[in-house]
Amino acid sequence: MDADHLSVRLATVAEYVPAGSRLADIGTDHAYLPVNLAKRGKIAGGVAGEVVKGPFENAQHEIEREGLSDRITARLANGLQAIKASDHIDTVVIAGMGGTLIVQILTQDFNRLAGVKRLVLQPNVGEQNVRQFLMTHGFQLVTEQIVTEDGHDYEILVADKVAQPERYTAEQLRFGPYLLTEHNAIFIAKWQRELARTRQVLAQVQSAKVVPTEKVAALETEIKEIEEVLQRVGA
Ligand code: SAM
Repeated sequence: MDADHLSVRLATVAEYVPAGSRLADIGTDHAYLPVNLAKRGKIAGGVAGEVVKGPFENAQHEIEREGLSDRITARLANGLQAIKASDHIDTVVIAGMGGTLIVQILTQDFNRLAGVKRLVLQPNVGEQNVRQFLMTHGFQLVTEQIVTEDGHDYEILVADKVAQPERYTAEQLRFGPYLLTEHNAIFIAKWQRELARTRQVLAQVQSAKVVPTEKVAALETEIKEIEEVLQRVGA
């Protein structure tokens, strides 16, 4: 992968960055995403934020090499602290991290999202936490995508700032309201795998000398929820 050849995952993230936006890519690593978008004239400019020195230097180097230093600024900073009011950022991408870390980044400097209209988030795991954060912090999911790459599934959650986000059920928060409705083959395969994995964990737990009844009950509930969803979508 490089800035001219994004992975399927990052290319899908890129699709949901609105044309002409001022983007902050938090946890940018090599800055491939903002560089790709700037080279194609899709963004007006923005910030490539990185908390680790090595990746930050990679980002800086990539931006300079592509002659984009006038449009994209690399900043060594923790999370949203990479954003200044004078950047006029309207879109934030956080991709390739766990959902818990994404939520932590968004929560700890929430005030820096004041002018932000769109969030494009790609948690590697823990998507449910991210949906819960969006619903309770004034961001409405507008679409969700699921893509597969190198044997991994990745969910991409796109949300816009609204006065009153829709309230989702526990099932929608877990499976994704859009992914549930659209239930494409990647979604079905993901949850079939998750079902098999959870059944395996249950069998292991049940074979213990002292069976932890609470854990068994929780796993059984989880299995039932996945079975119900898969049955409903005809899988
Ligand atoms: N966003 C790129 C992508 O999706 O391909 C890179 C993902 S890489 C796996 C995660 C990056 O996030 C790492 O470079 C890491 O240093 C950075 N990171 C982790 N926590 C961060 C934080 N609190 N603030 C900024 N960057 C962070």
